[in-house]
Amino acid sequence: MNNIVLFKDRAYCCGCGACWASCPRNAISMVEDEYGCKYPIINESICIKCGKCLKMCKYQNVKSGKNPIVAYAAKTKNEQILNKSASGGIFASLAYEIIALGGYVAGAVLEFNQNQKITVHHILSNNKGNIELMQGSKYVQSDAWRCYKEVIQIVKSGKQVLFCGTPCQVDAIKQITGNPDNLITIDLICHGVPPARMLQDYLKVMGKTLGGHITGFQFRDKTCHKEWTSKITIKKGKKEKNYFIPSRFVSFYKYFLESVIYRENCYTCPYANLKRVADLTIGDFWGIEQYHKDDLGRDTNGWSCVLINTKKGKDFFDMHGSGIQKFLSKAEWIEKNNHQLRHPSMKNEQRKNVLDS
Ligand SMILES: Cc1cc2nc3c(=O)[nH]c(=O)nc-3n(C[C@H](O)[C@H](O)[C@H](O)COP(=O)(O)OP(=O)(O)OC[C@H]3O[C@@H](n4cnc5c(N)ncnc54)[C@H](O)[C@@H]3O)c2cc1C
Repeated sequence: MNNIVLFKDRAYCCGCGACWASCPRNAISMVEDEYGCKYPIINESICIKCGKCLKMCKYQNVKSGKNPIVAYAAKTKNEQILNKSASGGIFASLAYEIIALGGYVAGAVLEFNQNQKITVHHILSNNKGNIELMQGSKYVQSDAWRCYKEVIQIVKSGKQVLFCGTPCQVDAIKQITGNPDNLITIDLICHGVPPARMLQDYLKVMGKTLGGHITGFQFRDKTCHKEWTSKITIKKGKKEKNYFIPSRFVSFYKYFLESVIYRENCYTCPYANLKRVADLTIGDFWGIEQYHKDDLGRDTNGWSCVLINTKKGKDFFDMHGSGIQKFLSKAEWIEKNNHQLRHPSMKNEQRKNVLDS
């Protein structure tokens, strides 16, 4: 078997997998490099050279998105949803509405198998029990491509689909479905994504240190009423125990926040600006107290920002956002404390050393 690397320069592949999903012969595999980042590889003996994979790849030719029409500070009204979400619970609040109306939702889930191997991938579901699995930020790359073919089928059947992911994943799903009216997209304000294998390596070490098998991990758990606490669930014998660790002591998290371990292309991400590709953009509202002191009163925790970027997004948010409390804000204020809305994360000079260690 002769394998060809689809994109020779790693800076030009975001790993969204649009090429994988569009291949009519299933000739493409997403294969890990030495750091665990996945890239498309073509099996030449099956490939019919139709060129569809390159045509579907938006990343090679990103067109500008749209400046937000409206910006909000927002948070779910439901405390249970809020506590399970990384930020203001905007995604889950909208997701419950859509499923109740007969629609489907696509988001990222983190799974552990017996050998403490983790996978982070997108699922498409119309079961509200699965929303909890999608809630919470998994700060690694999700294999979003695993759900693309199902999304294509469901939107073709006329049912509504709410897809949430990083901007490159959103651009991919729009491209391969043709962005019909019944597809609503939400992109995250995204720093960049490390490969899931790095999180797995970290959790393996933690499992050894804590003397058990890791069966669960959450980046931003709110049990201790602090947003930046990681929760590790360990199985020792037949018992499971939770450990809550301030995120600043989690080395993986530190490397993530300091832009050390992202995929190569994240450092030149063409989506890191205010021209958004999705109907809605969600993120943390950093520095909210600076601009909304009077609106907030004493309720200063857990607010998200929502950027409404298209008319489709506006109609959707107006119609399905009744579970969300919100007040008008400004995109410039949100941008000020979120550099990903101005430029990509800068490569940390420690990157090579850390990746090769
Ligand atoms: C890799 C990554 C980097 C981020 N960087 C920033 C940032 O720099 N600034 C900022 O303001 N916000 C950032 N966020 C967004 C932030 O963490 C919250 O997700 C966001 O504020 C929405 O919060 P929420 O409570 O509405 O929803 P959440 O409960 O956080 O869930 C939101 C959605 O994100 C999806 N999701 C979770 N992990 C992933 C993943 N790995 N890939 C794709 N989709 C995923 C979930 O399935 C769900 O659909 C980032 C998120 C991720 C995943």
